[in-house]
Amino acid sequence: MSRIASVLLPLPLPEAFDYAEPEGVELAVGDQVAAPLGPRLVRGVVTALREGAGGNRPLKVIEERLDCPALPPNTLEFVQWAARYSVDAPGAPLAIALRGMRAPRPRPQRRIELTGKAPARLTPARERVLAAAGQGAETAADLARAAGVSAGVVKGLIDEGALAVTVVEPELAFPEPDLARPAPPLNASQAAAADALKTMTDEAGFCAALLDGVTGSGKTEVYLELVRHVLAKDPTAQALILLPEIALTQAVIARIGERFGAPPGEWHSDVAPPARRKVWEAVVAGDCRIVVGARSALFLPFANLKLVVVDEEHDASYKQEEGFIYQGRDLAVLRARIEGAAVLLASATPSLESLRNAETGRYRWLRLAARHGTAQLPDIDLIDLRETPPQSGRWLAQPLVKAVGETLARGEQTLLFLNRRGYAPLVLCRACGERLCAPDTDSWLVEHRYSGRLVCHLTGYSMPKPERCPHCGAKDSLASIGPGVERVEEEARHLFPEARIAVFSSDTLFDAREARRMVEAMERGEIDILVATQAAAKGHNFPNLTLVGVVDADLGLRGGDLRAGERTYQLLAQATGRAGRRDRPGRAMLQTYAPEHPVMQALKAQDRDAFIAAEMEGRMFAGLPPFGRLGAVIVSGEDPRSLEAFVKDMAAAAPNAEGVDVYGPADAPLSLVRGRRRKRFLVRAERNVDLSAYLATWRARVKPTGSLRVVIDVDPYSF
Ligand code: ADP
Repeated sequence: MSRIASVLLPLPLPEAFDYAEPEGVELAVGDQVAAPLGPRLVRGVVTALREGAGGNRPLKVIEERLDCPALPPNTLEFVQWAARYSVDAPGAPLAIALRGMRAPRPRPQRRIELTGKAPARLTPARERVLAAAGQGAETAADLARAAGVSAGVVKGLIDEGALAVTVVEPELAFPEPDLARPAPPLNASQAAAADALKTMTDEAGFCAALLDGVTGSGKTEVYLELVRHVLAKDPTAQALILLPEIALTQAVIARIGERFGAPPGEWHSDVAPPARRKVWEAVVAGDCRIVVGARSALFLPFANLKLVVVDEEHDASYKQEEGFIYQGRDLAVLRARIEGAAVLLASATPSLESLRNAETGRYRWLRLAARHGTAQLPDIDLIDLRETPPQSGRWLAQPLVKAVGETLARGEQTLLFLNRRGYAPLVLCRACGERLCAPDTDSWLVEHRYSGRLVCHLTGYSMPKPERCPHCGAKDSLASIGPGVERVEEEARHLFPEARIAVFSSDTLFDAREARRMVEAMERGEIDILVATQAAAKGHNFPNLTLVGVVDADLGLRGGDLRAGERTYQLLAQATGRAGRRDRPGRAMLQTYAPEHPVMQALKAQDRDAFIAAEMEGRMFAGLPPFGRLGAVIVSGEDPRSLEAFVKDMAAAAPNAEGVDVYGPADAPLSLVRGRRRKRFLVRAERNVDLSAYLATWRARVKPTGSLRVVIDVDPYSF
């Protein structure tokens, strides 16, 4: 008798569908199958099998088992838990898990090469072909084009045996990491941390630790030693290292490759589809033992995952805010638990969530208090802009300008940090007061001078900068208000015309290779002043960088977000931490209108613990994370009236539950995006409440119709 197979499809459906097992095929959980859905066949994954023949209606029969690797049971379990946690359809994370599988395989490479056999006779045309051969031409036509001859000349040489077409199969294997390669000896505090971590992973399956060490303390060396240990102990073990905004952290990837004598599997949006397919297949086969990736690497089908490292664990880019919404740091812990693996979170400025878990003993807490070697943390000065304002139309105050000049004179490097892309964050019409926004969106258009365009950073909309105000039609009335990195660069060029100046932001670093070139130029001392957004605040070691100037330290503190203090502290501690990383002392200067603000005081005094204690107290008082749970329910629609009516219904349908408070609806922080109005409920729950279950119950009670949509964000980043 055939069995019933539950098949999960990578589609927004609430659950797996039942199908009949095909005649003569014995399916297993994890198998990829083609299942009929309406008129189509859809790739799905078998999540369960049971005896039976279905209910009254005969079940549709699975078309076939696909000839590709089965998803490991742990990966499937992870996908289902992740969906439950994020209150989303399980098909959403499944689609992410199958992404690598759907990419095309790397193709065999054809090449025309010299055989070494001399041709019967030589003509000038033939000589040109022989000279051009061996440069990677794939076809006779390509080679003929490269040599500027007709295809017949190439064909003649092939017929005579002077040239041969070879087919090179793509290299699919990942070389084994060399675990015996010599590494720099760890200093005493690194060794103590590494030993504690090794003991922890030896003794337990699932375990979690926070590696909390100041910038430059050598956390990377510690976790690479742990990777080595875990891989050496179990010959099939795999390790996953997550990095934030991976396109900008090529240097770390290179460092890992050097450390183990073989490049790791890379997984992020810059990896070409065939290379992704190669990683996906090698990970599921257990052949790729070290993966370095962005947050979505958590969904790879690991055969035997034993260690997950989340580097810069506090970083905002671990939060996926669109499509399947999740916090990568939390899912890393979930994945490790399911795999019985260790998870190590590393940061110089850990999130309050992780610090709380460390304080309460849920995570092992390892601290590195000092920089490696003789390097010292930089001295930090606050520049009170109320006392020493920059000249009108300028952004750098005199004390900072002076310090940059001195740094240049010493032949050292400066980082001018401003976390704002483009030239000016706002374009305002001086005639009518209009602030230019993207169509049907309430966020400002940012002026980009390099590209000559106005860009909406939220929706990606862009337009050439108009000559007339689109609102009132006045000519030459548009003013660029406020600074972005391009404007600071302009000022720096004006002040220091001799200096070599570069801009480092996601607009100037189109891809990983570009980012790497820029980092190398900085390392070789070919740049004197780097003007940068947070793209440069992370993970880089520039030995000759001794001054960091923060152009607008208050930037992240504006607006009512309760996480603003934590986030600003993290960003500025990271940015200022780029200064003085070797034997030369570093200095950082923060331009601020609020030098008395606790964030500025904590940075100046280098007293993180006091700042964290005060933040924690505030959160505890308000019952906010990490002391309580928080969820956001965002309801959006095109028609304001039906949206109003629907949020009223939603408010009425909110389940009553002990320890849960629902606030709202209020306008969402982005209240109008591409013509959709957005309202938000915030749900606060005590720690012992299953917030995901609560939100799932609520969602099930209301059915959005028409253009209305409900999106749930468990643990929203802003609140
Ligand atoms: P973190 O990740 O804590 O910011 P890194 O691991 O990047 O710090 O280390 C900072 C710098 O110190 C790097 O240049 C690194 O190569 C160097 N370093 C760290 N530990 C050692 C060690 N044990 N021996 C030699 N150099 C080290």
